[in-house]
Amino acid sequence: PVQDVPPTNLTAEQLLDGLLTAEFVPRSCRSRYEFASYHHNKKKHKPSPYLLAKLRRHEKLQKRCGPGTAPYRAAVRQLKSGNGVAGAGTDDCRYLVSISFQGLGNRMVATVSAFLYAVLTERALLLHQYNHDVGALFCEPFPGTTWLLPSSGWLGGGFPLAHLGSYDNVSKESLGNMLKADILSVGPHGNASWLDSDGRRRPPYVYLHLEGVPSFHDKLFYCDEHQRLLRGAPWLLMKTDSYLVPGLFLLPSFQEELARMFPDKDVVFHHIGRYLFHPVNDVWRAFTGYYGDHLAGAGQRVGIQIRVFRPKQQKPLKHVLDQVLSCVRRENLLHYLPSKSKTSNASVDQQVVLVTSLSSWYYERIRDEYGDGRVHQPSHEGRQKWGDASHDGRALSEMYLLSTCDVLVTTGFSTFGYVAQGLGGIRPWIMPAIPMWEPDRDEVPDPPCVRAMSVEPCLHSPSYYDCAARKDVDVGNVVPYIRFCEDVSWGIKIA
Ligand code: GDP
Repeated sequence: PVQDVPPTNLTAEQLLDGLLTAEFVPRSCRSRYEFASYHHNKKKHKPSPYLLAKLRRHEKLQKRCGPGTAPYRAAVRQLKSGNGVAGAGTDDCRYLVSISFQGLGNRMVATVSAFLYAVLTERALLLHQYNHDVGALFCEPFPGTTWLLPSSGWLGGGFPLAHLGSYDNVSKESLGNMLKADILSVGPHGNASWLDSDGRRRPPYVYLHLEGVPSFHDKLFYCDEHQRLLRGAPWLLMKTDSYLVPGLFLLPSFQEELARMFPDKDVVFHHIGRYLFHPVNDVWRAFTGYYGDHLAGAGQRVGIQIRVFRPKQQKPLKHVLDQVLSCVRRENLLHYLPSKSKTSNASVDQQVVLVTSLSSWYYERIRDEYGDGRVHQPSHEGRQKWGDASHDGRALSEMYLLSTCDVLVTTGFSTFGYVAQGLGGIRPWIMPAIPMWEPDRDEVPDPPCVRAMSVEPCLHSPSYYDCAARKDVDVGNVVPYIRFCEDVSWGIKIA
């Protein structure tokens, strides 16, 4: 049918300077080619021609190897048989199954990390359907195929490994545990054939445990010799909730390729996030409707993301409000209306404020302080909910709303804020936050917020191990473009 023919009249702006392929039908996923029109105001970061070429090549790989293809069926058969060497030997398809978890922001930074690793290692990326809502939130990013891992119940081509979400640090298939048990070893020269030094077949898959604070052996993932070892594995399962990209930039064997893909290093999430994530039409409708009603036409949009990492976060915390107010005052981010009773003058009126938070209390106080009618909050969900696609849809829509802002104030530690700043390419003012595991201190930090060095997310649990020197090093000072984060002093980010 005519409507299935992809359009040829998409502009370079709609295609995000070539980041997006024009192969999709716009109506099926409006956000894909409409995203640009909500980000006119932003400084343009052009993707390199080399990155574009890599993306087009990777799309072909995803299509050639994806679910439903002969190579995929062969690889699944091999996985079922428990045998590590490509049985048919007909194709060179290798796979990375991404098992992401936690809230939506965590899952999105994890997905960007897995995708970049898949591109660097020429593997097809398949997403484990945590909560089964990836498909309910995002359109497919690769033309002519799916990035969703078929469920284990699928007839015939079903994925043979079940309960992927329950792999953890004690799983015997993990890189760390297989190294410790000597089931895997790096050997003097590395080995791309996936045979061990005695010519025996290695296991058909390796589980990469990169969540939370991985063990010493699991973190050997960040060593070149272990990367050489993993190269030949037909299947890798990667479990993470983190933004691993700064760690990939520290691997010498990836550095040259990454430098060609990203001549400007500090916009990796900005490019890959805009390439991969396209909210489905329902979520996009919520986003465009809210934007049209409250944010469109404003002279300046100021986004304030308030995230409270407290078990009883429904309770209003005065020091958190004071921190927000102190930050916006100190940095002069919000203008007062001349008088609350008078109609405001045009220049002040042009500023609108978008507050996102699970609670409505902060929004109400900011509205009382800065004036009715221009301070808005799309939702107040009360608490984080698990496995609720409409709750996640609202979170996604709000991350996109924040990304349209000109000025952004975010809460440190929060991947929700990282996604908003990354999509928008905005260097936020970050308010230091107290992590869940530390007792609260009901005082306002001094300073209440700091300007981020770059728009990149922070990797909260890096490896400090220098594989060549065989000792821990000061990872924030190894290369000039990887620094310790503003919000997480032991984490690293590209800046
Ligand atoms: P992080 O925990 O701050 O790193 O961010 P995540 O996105 O991983 O997890 C927090 C989850 O709580 C979100 O995905 C939402 O489900 C919910 N949430 C937190 N803050 C907000 C908010 O401001 N708006 C909405 N709609 N949901 C939120």
